[in-house]
Amino acid sequence: MNQRIDLHLHSTNSDGTFTPREVVRRAEAAGLSVISLTDHDSTGGVAEAQEEGALLGVEVIPGTELSARNDGADVHILGYFIDPEHPDLISWLDTFRQARLQRAERIVKKLNDMGLRVPLEQVLARAGPGAIGRPHIADVMVEEGLVLSVDEAFHRYLGYSKPAYVGKYSQSPSGAIQVIRAAGGLACLAHPGLYRRDDLIPGMVSAGLDGIEVRHTKHNASQVARYSNIAAEHNLLCTGGSDCHGDGRGDPIIGTVDVPVSYVEAMRERLENRSM
Ligand code: AMP
Ligand code: FE
Ligand code: FE
Ligand code: ZN
Repeated sequence: MNQRIDLHLHSTNSDGTFTPREVVRRAEAAGLSVISLTDHDSTGGVAEAQEEGALLGVEVIPGTELSARNDGADVHILGYFIDPEHPDLISWLDTFRQARLQRAERIVKKLNDMGLRVPLEQVLARAGPGAIGRPHIADVMVEEGLVLSVDEAFHRYLGYSKPAYVGKYSQSPSGAIQVIRAAGGLACLAHPGLYRRDDLIPGMVSAGLDGIEVRHTKHNASQVARYSNIAAEHNLLCTGGSDCHGDGRGDPIIGTVDVPVSYVEAMRERLENRSM
């Protein structure tokens, strides 16, 4: 039987709706043998996911998805096989978590100043101990009956250039790539089809990029072909996943993107060659 894998999954440790344990249970139920938990600017869910993975026979690759910004473009850098306890990575993530918290407070203040009742405590409770983001604020706005959906919250208030928008603290993609590699991981550009900034790829390659997320829910067949070619051209790995954030956000479902298991084999091989 063909092994099935999904290397891009979110949990309640960032803006997903399933706990890390539930992510693994659902992956097992979907017949996946290898997954990676890639929460935004956080690795706090990895240990729980690995614990559940060991019980259910699902391999959980420790991962994360770092926020970065270059030349006006927000790009996400996935880290795989990272050491979640590496001090450089921990301090990087702490800075981001703090900045995300301050940003959430500013967004909530803007909404409150507009006369919208969005209690900060409720937003913080919703986010829990992981990385707080706009989806948590959107969820509370839905709960409070201020909007009908998360999408409407983004559309009217939280999205780029909307009245409660606050930019995110970020670092350069090269910094993100370096910290992932310092933590022993592989740095891969997430969903390049969403940025339309392929001109930034060569710079990231020079900074040590290891791979490109070729297969993603929002990539069509021609994008899959395009990014496979770009990966081959720069001697980069290919990765892929659903980018599932859980329930209720019109989100993709765990395991619904076809990702060849050979991708993971190539990742392991690259790591082995690096350590030689
Ligand atoms: P943040 O990390 O706080 O900037 O929030 C970005 C996250 O919000 C993304 O990772 C998505 O999960 C989610 N998101 C972005 N745009 C939308 C939208 N229009 N509707 C619902 N969720 C969105
Ligand atoms: Fe997200
Ligand atoms: Fe992303
Ligand atoms: Zn993601």
